[in-house]
Amino acid sequence: ELDPARLMATHSAVGDDTPRPDPDDPQAIRRIGVIGGGTAGYLTALALQHKRPWLEVSLVESPGIPIIGVGESTVPFLLTFLHHFLEIDADELYRRVRPTWKTGINFEWGPHPDGFRCAFDWSAESVGLLGAMDATGNITGSTLGSALIARDRAAVFEVDGKPVSLLKYLPFAYHLDNKPFVEFLTDLAKRRGVKHVPATVADVVTSGPEWVDHLVTTDGQQLEFDLFVDCTGFRSLLLEKALGTPFVSFGSSLFTDRAVTGNVAHHGHIKPYTDVITMNAGWNWGIPTPDSDHRGYVYSSDFLSDDEAAAEMAKRYPGISEPKVVRFRSGRHEKAWRGNVVGIGNAYAFTEPLESSGLVMAADAIWSLLATLPASWSSAPGRDLFNSALNQRWDQVRWLITSHYKFNTRLDTPFWRAVRADADVSGFQPILDMFAECAPLSRRSGTLQAMLNRVSPTTFELYGMDNILFGMQVPTKRLVPAGEPLSRWRARRQAADALAAAAMPTADAIAAYADHPELNHGLLNDDDSWAGHRVARMMGMR
Ligand code: FAD
Repeated sequence: ELDPARLMATHSAVGDDTPRPDPDDPQAIRRIGVIGGGTAGYLTALALQHKRPWLEVSLVESPGIPIIGVGESTVPFLLTFLHHFLEIDADELYRRVRPTWKTGINFEWGPHPDGFRCAFDWSAESVGLLGAMDATGNITGSTLGSALIARDRAAVFEVDGKPVSLLKYLPFAYHLDNKPFVEFLTDLAKRRGVKHVPATVADVVTSGPEWVDHLVTTDGQQLEFDLFVDCTGFRSLLLEKALGTPFVSFGSSLFTDRAVTGNVAHHGHIKPYTDVITMNAGWNWGIPTPDSDHRGYVYSSDFLSDDEAAAEMAKRYPGISEPKVVRFRSGRHEKAWRGNVVGIGNAYAFTEPLESSGLVMAADAIWSLLATLPASWSSAPGRDLFNSALNQRWDQVRWLITSHYKFNTRLDTPFWRAVRADADVSGFQPILDMFAECAPLSRRSGTLQAMLNRVSPTTFELYGMDNILFGMQVPTKRLVPAGEPLSRWRARRQAADALAAAAMPTADAIAAYADHPELNHGLLNDDDSWAGHRVARMMGMR
């Protein structure tokens, strides 16, 4: 029988095309050295070992050089990556890492005194963006997820004394406390057969402009691998230092370069979202962990000293723990993969963390590597494809985050004046021009949307851009007609509010999931779940 949907499909799941090494091939890729034991290193090692069990995967990490130690807020993709691509047991992850749930972001951003709430279910149009803008001038409450954020509730309900969950229908992400998460991954990698090499690399010995021959460690070991994955964080020991790969700075778009972090007591009140709060020279994140809120002020050292940043945080959050300063740079290297070296994580690229891009982009690089890594160096045609695809994704993240900065009119400090005047957002100019003409973009003609997606592909698609730009009250000349009377939107809004008001506080909902593991099993298995097996297969995760 002819299925018209199939005829029009852009891609379909195919069989296993993973190449296996020939036993007689002297150039076969068998020994992999992942250098660096942060999140990027461990996720890479686990993926290579899991998806290509015939490889010998070693993870080299310095006992003396700490991991970055931040990176708690994620996006829904990571949940499917962990539980489907890597097949990490969810019960164990909950026990060991104690993730909390992120329905979306609470933005204290833009001119509206209440800011705006942006939830991951933005494409569902469950309540309606146009009605929200028309009736309230604010996107908050335009989806069920956003109504839940506004009510400070998770999508779990108590019905006849039993928990009933709607999380299968509402994409959400994890907040992951970096330290227990990396400890858990370390243990898992050992159990799954990754060889752990605790050693500090002192020298990288090359045998050509794009080829690493071996590493020398401070304790005199000589480490030889066929493929070296550079996960050494901002040090970028192999990709940048040894091979001299140029760094492409995003500094003309993103002006921040430091964060001062600390913890604030939350007395058991776990919020269902990440806070993003405008500050004098940047913004601060609020990420709920089970024991406290983790906060970090991302700022520009051209406009604020470390002491001034810490003082601004202490004033806003009395009792915040001792400040810790983290330095970073936004940008990517010209290429992630050169010769037998691939950079993943901060060693290759990083943008400031406003849209939680670190872990998801590492995951994206890992599954892209697995799709292109050959069995032998005698043929490596995937390198250029990998580099182009990753560079393009990182450039999208650059324009996405800069769009947030460029239109944030909340404060009139020297930093925000400079950002609004000078931040380069040129990569998204077609999107911004079309939004200024008529919005929402996700309701414009299919042809126009396809054209925008071709010239300015966006990480969160046009729905995401609509939410961000409407959230910040970026002007548009014309709205696409809603096509319904406002009374129908009001009825949906009332229903969503009533549902949100009846939902559980997040701490209780997480406890209910622990007591009823069948809820999480349904989320990760059922065919009607956004995180279930069917969707995972469609995404190529299984
Ligand atoms: P690192 O964690 O720095 O690990 C580097 C590893 O390399 C360490 O194990 C170290 O021992 C090893 N190493 C270094 N040199 C040597 C050597 N010579 N020999 C041997 N080993 C060596 N991401 C998100 O997804 N969400 C967020 O909310 C988020 N917030 C962030 C906030 C800030 C301020 C920053 C800076 C980053 C944030 N990130 C976030 C990004 C995230 O933290 C990182 O992308 C992620 O943790 C990956 O780090 P990494 O593994 O690349 O590097």
